[in-house]
Amino acid sequence: MQIAKTKGWVKLLAMVVVAVTMLWGMPQSAKAATNPPTVEEEIVRPKVVFRLDDIEDYWREEGQLAPIKTFAEYPGGPESLTIGIIGKTFAQEWNDHADEVKQYVDMLGEKGEVACHSTKHEDFTGMTLEEQEQDLQLCRDKIETVFPSKNTKTFIPPFNNFNEDTKEAMLQEGYSIMSSQCSPEWCMDPGGFTGESPVNLPVGASTGGWTGPYQMQSAEEIFTEIQDQLSSNNNQNWSVVMMHPEEYEDGGVNATNTLREVIKMCKENGIKLVTFSELVESVPGT
Ligand SMILES: [Zn+2]
Repeated sequence: MQIAKTKGWVKLLAMVVVAVTMLWGMPQSAKAATNPPTVEEEIVRPKVVFRLDDIEDYWREEGQLAPIKTFAEYPGGPESLTIGIIGKTFAQEWNDHADEVKQYVDMLGEKGEVACHSTKHEDFTGMTLEEQEQDLQLCRDKIETVFPSKNTKTFIPPFNNFNEDTKEAMLQEGYSIMSSQCSPEWCMDPGGFTGESPVNLPVGASTGGWTGPYQMQSAEEIFTEIQDQLSSNNNQNWSVVMMHPEEYEDGGVNATNTLREVIKMCKENGIKLVTFSELVESVPGT
């Protein structure tokens, strides 16, 4: 009798050990699938937008493609990226570069946003309201001709500079998101989800520093800037990272490795990569 009881205990203990071992051994992705994040968890999850400026023909083409490829071909599937097109000088006629950019944007699918970075890369604060409206209209026409599946909502003002007319022109032309700059070096508007339209989501981190010629920083330096912006404004929980093609030239091998490392650091720390549109959609009431 006593022996049978002991055997029963041993059996139960063995079952518990097996169950715990199975749970422990389960890969992270399987655990996440068992318990998908709730809506609340998704809202409070920190998010980061990577913004690549100055996409155009015949100028630092290698440096443009290297970072786009890094996001499109990221191990395990594409990661979100927003590219800023200069309307007049991108796809002036059909050419190999425009074709390659388009192929990678297709690979990114929903995770690829195409933003307007103006028609001629001129400072908008030197233009009239009408000139700003016309510039935004031509830029959107170009983007929607080349990328018919994309809806142009986001404007990256050249030199991150804008004035009140810019906001008015954006509303007239159907743009709802702007991305300027708010870094420790220069902040003309902290932006954020203040209920204002268009919403301004400025860059507060940069892979290549804040003054030209831009040069790739270390992964640790870039990640610190991202963390600083996430915790700024009473833990706003979002960050936008500026990137320029010149940082990714000379084959872009080292710079691309650093970029891949930064993406990995974000993911390992629970920071989700999103486009501007995805970030806005994740905030209720916007
Ligand atoms: Zn630019």
